Amino acid sequence: MRTIRPSSGLANVRYEIRGDLARRANEMERMGHDIIALNIGNPGVFGFRTPETMRLAMIENLRSSEAYCHQKGIFPAREAVVMQQQSRGVRGVTAEEVYMGNGVSELIDLVLRALLSTDDEVLVPSPDYPLWTAAVNLNRGRAVHYPCRPENGFEPDPKDIEALITSRTRAIVVINPNNPTGAVYSRATLEAIARIAEKHHLVVFSDEIYDQILYDNAEFVPMATLVHGTLCATLSGLSKVYRACGYRVGWVSFSGEVEPAREYLAALDKLSSLRLCSNVPGQWAVQTALGGYQSIYELTRPGGRLFQSRKAILDGVAASKYLQVCAPRGAIYAFIGIKEGVLPEFSDQQFAMDLLQHKHVLLAPGTSFNAPYKTHFRITNLPTSEVIADVFGRVEELLDSYASG
Ligand code: PLP
Repeated sequence: MRTIRPSSGLANVRYEIRGDLARRANEMERMGHDIIALNIGNPGVFGFRTPETMRLAMIENLRSSEAYCHQKGIFPAREAVVMQQQSRGVRGVTAEEVYMGNGVSELIDLVLRALLSTDDEVLVPSPDYPLWTAAVNLNRGRAVHYPCRPENGFEPDPKDIEALITSRTRAIVVINPNNPTGAVYSRATLEAIARIAEKHHLVVFSDEIYDQILYDNAEFVPMATLVHGTLCATLSGLSKVYRACGYRVGWVSFSGEVEPAREYLAALDKLSSLRLCSNVPGQWAVQTALGGYQSIYELTRPGGRLFQSRKAILDGVAASKYLQVCAPRGAIYAFIGIKEGVLPEFSDQQFAMDLLQHKHVLLAPGTSFNAPYKTHFRITNLPTSEVIADVFGRVEELLDSYASG
């Protein structure tokens, strides 16, 4: 029998959030175990609903969703993105500069594929949402990680970013609010990154999918309001703020110096045409989503479900002998670390596997997010406070067992 080998292009592509641990969890579920799976930020499985108005907008337009649409997406959806960007103070975006995709995920691949040649470098945060690193590698580039250190609240230091720029660097990726850390970057940091990108003629990819999921009055500054002298691509979508992961709708809008980027945008147009168009029914929910009542604030304000669950995480960490965390100020995660010196042999991957096997909880280890240290894990605040309190109890039991040898 001749072996069928996969593409060598996948050799250094990692996406562990749905990898070995998740497969083991599935096996255990098939064997009849109840697993508390907190590895994926998928609001729908935790009882969150997509706003009814969006569902109706999609249903009412199903008849007109039977055909392919324009490769960039349906006009009302693209116009709604234009309006949102305009209302935030982003200048010069028209529907021509907006592309709809099958989630931000597809667009991350497309915007990089259209840009990168072999060995081109892209500056990616560490830790990152690992699709960014994976998609750079998949598209023949090299992901160069800039540190977002816990001691700095996971905020990047623009000096670290600039020090990593070489003649091959093409772009800087910013994820704000951040997955996995929950950091919301200050205006000063974003300004400094914008100036670096302009000085070195780098494209800025700003992944803002959590843009309205904020706690404790954190201020979200859209990167596109700060980038003027180079190309800025802002990516967002319906999955998180609008709890519609399964609709598979995301978008990218281009601003800043668009004219010198026309060839790049033509390449993106070509790639968009190759996949004909993105999922049409879901696009019909975009105008209602962006233009309608923003129900996310009911979830993030004090007393709201996301706020309370985040509090349960902070309480769980405060009560623990082993854990520490920078309180997340945005998004739907906390990136929790083991206190220095308390468990010297701690390995995040081993911990995650032990937690799954012995305590039936699935969490994502920090190294799955390209963190350079093995001391962290990510938890989501999507479950109820009660579930989170239960999970922290199980985590503490496991860590106790490590401590007692
Ligand atoms: N970007 C970030 C930072 C994410 O956390 C996610 C999903 O978790 C995505 C992009 C992908 O989202 P989508 O469902 O739009 O593909």
